[in-house]
This record gives sequence, structure tokens and C-alpha cells, in this order.
Amino acid sequence: MDKNAITLSQASEISLSLAEQKQGLLSAIIATSDDAIISKTLKGIITSWNPAAERMFGYSAAETIGQHISLIIPPDRLAEEAYIIGQIEQGNRVDHFETIRLACDGKLVPISLSISPIIDRKGIVIGASKIARNISDRQIANEKQSILAAIVASSDDAIISKTLEGIISSWNPAAERMFGYNEAEVLGKHISLIIPPERFQEEAFIISKVSKGNKVDHFHTLRLAKDGRQVPISLSVSPIVDSSGIVIGASKIARDISEQLSIQQEKERLYEQAKELNDKKDEFIGLASHELKTPLTSISGYLQILSTMVTDEKGRLFVAKTRQQVKKLSALVSDLLDVSKIEAGRLQLSTERFDILQVLKDAIELLSYSNNNYDISLKAEIAELQITGDPHRVEQVIINLLTNAIRYSPGTDRIIIYLSRELHEVKIGIQDFGIGIATEKLKDIFTRFYRVDDANPNVSGLGIGLYLSQDIILRHKGRIWAVSEPGIGSTFWFTLPLE
Ligand code: ADP
Repeated sequence: MDKNAITLSQASEISLSLAEQKQGLLSAIIATSDDAIISKTLKGIITSWNPAAERMFGYSAAETIGQHISLIIPPDRLAEEAYIIGQIEQGNRVDHFETIRLACDGKLVPISLSISPIIDRKGIVIGASKIARNISDRQIANEKQSILAAIVASSDDAIISKTLEGIISSWNPAAERMFGYNEAEVLGKHISLIIPPERFQEEAFIISKVSKGNKVDHFHTLRLAKDGRQVPISLSVSPIVDSSGIVIGASKIARDISEQLSIQQEKERLYEQAKELNDKKDEFIGLASHELKTPLTSISGYLQILSTMVTDEKGRLFVAKTRQQVKKLSALVSDLLDVSKIEAGRLQLSTERFDILQVLKDAIELLSYSNNNYDISLKAEIAELQITGDPHRVEQVIINLLTNAIRYSPGTDRIIIYLSRELHEVKIGIQDFGIGIATEKLKDIFTRFYRVDDANPNVSGLGIGLYLSQDIILRHKGRIWAVSEPGIGSTFWFTLPLE
């Protein structure tokens, strides 16, 4: 006998072991599959349940075999089973049927089902085998995808993607509104379609940054709409990276900033207008005070002559009163002139060495003369102190502060002046016991034309004395400030450097 020949019994053993091997292989596949593999009778009774089905639905094989498949079908989907069984009975397959099944813990599991009929040797359908794939991840990804798509579609910003060669690959509705081209017109076209020619080099710069994986943020530029309009935009461009991390394109978000720009331009225009008006006002103050000064000087002169000519008592009194008013008027006009000089940057100091104590004494004498009911006392720690500065301007400051101390202290009769020599400066204080200034107003009193109106309705003034005083002291590189308490009084301090 041929040594390669086999006996009949040997052959049947071999074919048996082949069938066993096949069976074993199938069992291994079913046991290790990631998809749930379940078989059931045509009546819906579960006949097998693999480990993936256990993981997917939470029931063990022992719990499910012999049970009806409706165990894992949500009540509102029971009709599906009738449809599936109907198909299977006719010997048909049901493929990639997306549905939802119920896990043991009540969770709904989105699955893709493929069901095939189980046919016996006689060709009769005796049951169904179903393979269920969990598609939760895919569904989440799909949901995310559709949320993103909805955001892109409803965005007010133009969202455009393009390849690294600049070919437009997506174009949202806002891009249509902003640039006037619809999606069909631009897909596949080069992005230079919306770039003004003189800005082409911007695109090279953006692409070079993006292809290195970098972002371009809030880049303000202009783009060209279909009708030739230039649209001012703020552009942010990010690289589009594929799953292996390679940059394959760029997505750009463009925000139309025309409105923002026009608000900004309007603000600038209003600012310019206000500045122009302010300059005109300063110019007017300067001109008016200059024009007033000349006739005032001659009125003063004539009044002086008149005072020597008038002999009767009443006449003398009237001339004296007129001279007093003209003096006030002249002081006011001089202050206004000074303000306009400050604004024009033309207020100049004529500096020299002078004795600050003497200047203080002169000012006190002047004010005591016209306010003889006030006791203005000087508390000086020194007998003489030479400093460098403009004595007339410093005297102007002292007179301003002293005049205020008197004007804003009705019903009192005492003012104290302090003079002390500090390390590098001389410090002067003028204290009154008058109406005082509320703390929240103190920061404004050195501002031009500022007056604490409610506090002194009976005292007239323009609100420029302290502004001028501050300017003069700052020009001397000194400091000026006030300490005050309403109803108690104020002390105005200023310093002047010794060198
Ligand atoms: P004017 O006295 O002409 O109003 P000033 O610039 O000299 O202008 O003063 C600004 C404001 O500061 C005054 O209107 C007044 O309300 C307040 N002020 C100045 N000095 C005193 C003071 N010694 N006591 C109380 N308030 C004062």
C-alpha cells in the first residue's frame, strides 16, 4: 500500500479534527471580539452571549441565555425587533442598522447592528446571529463635529480654511456676508482673491508662520470684498494639523472691525474738535485779557491824577472806591493773561537771588493794610533766607493764598503763616480757620477754573488763583498742597528748593 495513502477511518478522524479546529477558531474569534456577538432563536430567545456582549450590556452569559432579547431593547424600540425578525425569516441580512440598546445599569448604548440568519443543514432559518458594535465614541465625535459645524455656520466672524498653497477649502456664511463671494465662487480659488495686491507679502508672512506650526493673532489688515470695498479686519490664523501632526493648511478667523474703527475715528474727531475749541478759548482769553489790560492801565493812571485833583470828601471817597475796583479788575485781567500764557507755554520766570522772608513780610504788610481787622502772624524760625527764584511770582503765590485764606474765612480774624528751613528746601504754610474744604474736593482745587461752588456761594472768583500758584511753584521745582477740614480751616503749604 502506498505509504502516503490513509485509511477511511483515518480520513474520518482527520475531517473530524478539521471541523473541531474550525469550531475552536470560531469560538476564539467570538470570545476575543470587541463587538458583542449574540445569537437568538426566531422567537427571540438568547442562545449565546459572548464576553464583549457582557462588557457592552453588563449582563453575564448565564444571566441572558434563555432570556428574551427584549431584555436589552428599550421599550420604545420593541417594534424594531419585529422588523429584524421579519427580515431574518425571509433569509435576509440586516446590515449596519444604527440603534440604541439598554444596558443592565439602565444606560442607553448606541450601537451599529449587523444581523444574519442562522440556517440549519436543511436550509431552514432557525435563528439569528447579531453583531453589535458600540458607536458611542463615533457618536460623540459626530456630535462634536456637528456642534463645530453649527458654530462655524452661525459665527459672526468669517471662518475660512485654506491649504498651505493658499487654496480656499472652506468658507462660512459670515465670510460670504463679509466679502460678498458665496462658497461655490471661492472653493478651490486662491486666497489672493480677497487680498489687496499691495498686501500680498502679508500672505507669505502668514503662511511661513503657520507652516512652522505657529499662530498669528489679531493681525489688523485690510481685505478686498467682491464689490471692491476694502474691509478692515482683525485676523487670527491657526495651523490645521493632521493626525500625524503635520501642518496641512491654515484656518483663519476674520473679524470685521469697520464699526470699531469708525467709533475710534469718531472719538478722535470729537477729541480734535474739543481740543480745537479749547485752543480757541485759550486764544480768546489771551487776546481779551491783553486788550483789556491797555485801557485798564490808562484808567488807573487817570484815576491817580484825578485823586490829586478832587478836593471834596465825597468825590475823594468815590475816586478811592473806583481805584479799588479797578485794582481788582486789573488783578483779574493779569491772572487771566497768566493762564493764557501757561496754556501757550509762554509763562516765564525771571530768576534772581532774593530773601524769601522779606517777600513774605511785604505780602503780609500789603494784605494787612487792606484787611486791618485780620491778625496775620508770621512764625518764622529764621531771620533771613536767600533763595533763587522769581520774587514777583513767589509773591503772587503768597498773595493768592493769603487772599483765599481771608476770603474763605468769614467771621474769623486770624491767619498764621509758617516759614521753616528744611534740609533742601524752604517750607511755607498759610493757615486759616475758615470754612475748610471737603476731602473729596481737595484733589481738584488746583485745577483750572475749579471752584467748590456749594461751599462758597457768596465769594466770587474764577477758580484760577490756585491753578496759577501751582504752576508757578512747579516751575520753581517746588511742591504745593493743602490740608483742610470743613468747618475747622485749611493750611496751604508750598516748598521751594534751596539750590
Ligand atoms: P477762586 O478763589 O477764584 O475761586 P482759587 O483757584 O483760588 O479760585 O481757588 C479754587 C477754589 O478752592 C475756591 O473756589 C475755593 O472753593 C477753594 N479754596 C481755595 N482756598 C481756600 C481756603 N483757604 N479755604 C477754603 N476753600 C478754599
